[in-house]
Amino acid sequence: AVNFSNILFDLKNISFRYPERQDIALKQVNLQIKPKQKVAILGKTGSGKSTLLQLLVRNYDPILGEIHFGDKQLSAYRESTLRQQICFLTQRVHIFSDSLRNNLQFATTTPLSDKKIMNVLTQVGLPNLAEQGLDQWLGDGGRPLSGGEQRRLGLARILLSDAPILLLDEPTEGLDRETERQVLKLILQHCQNKTLIMVTHRLTAIEQFDNIVMIDNAELVEQGNYTEL
Ligand code: ATP
Ligand code: MG
Repeated sequence: AVNFSNILFDLKNISFRYPERQDIALKQVNLQIKPKQKVAILGKTGSGKSTLLQLLVRNYDPILGEIHFGDKQLSAYRESTLRQQICFLTQRVHIFSDSLRNNLQFATTTPLSDKKIMNVLTQVGLPNLAEQGLDQWLGDGGRPLSGGEQRRLGLARILLSDAPILLLDEPTEGLDRETERQVLKLILQHCQNKTLIMVTHRLTAIEQFDNIVMIDNAELVEQGNYTEL
């Protein structure tokens, strides 16, 4: 079976434009991500950060350049392999019309015990969500969740994921400073042996990332670690 835990991601001169748009969303981006590296992606709103993550999970293909995962092009992998190997937390978290339990279970191939689920819900600040039981229905026709609750459920998925690669799009958005610090600590702990690529607006814990990538107006303008930048 394919395993992404020891492969290099190599983006070579990537350019991308959304089909219905005139302006370019990413322009000649070169970026290497080594196995188990922690990469932070920073930049102004609309600069192309989320787009970069979308390309890494092949939701879109670059118009120019190549993306290599290990010795193969990204396009050579099956969709199911990418889904298995890469956990992608989008800026808007999708809640499935299913039980609370299944909304978390799908993030991992390991069967989750009630205790494990309760633990992680507590870690992300949602201990009360389980009051109606783990089999309560979420999503359409189920218990409505606030935006903040949805995001925290997304965080719980990350902390449960057994994928070797995590792509997180502003995982701590909307959290207060103290909670953000705690959550980042949990994420970094969980990712000790994983590759982490995280888009963020804020600089909390930034010194703990191996590579900080600055995107401005569709271009990668700078990269390096905290002491280099
Ligand atoms: P933010 O910090 O606000 O999330 P971002 O850096 O993630 O911003 P992107 O979402 O990558 O920015 O957007 C980059 C550019 O691509 C923007 O001009 C945006 O309008 C455009 N764009 C993003 N998604 C789409 C889409 N699905 N279709 C067309 N254009 C899009
Ligand atoms: Mg974005």
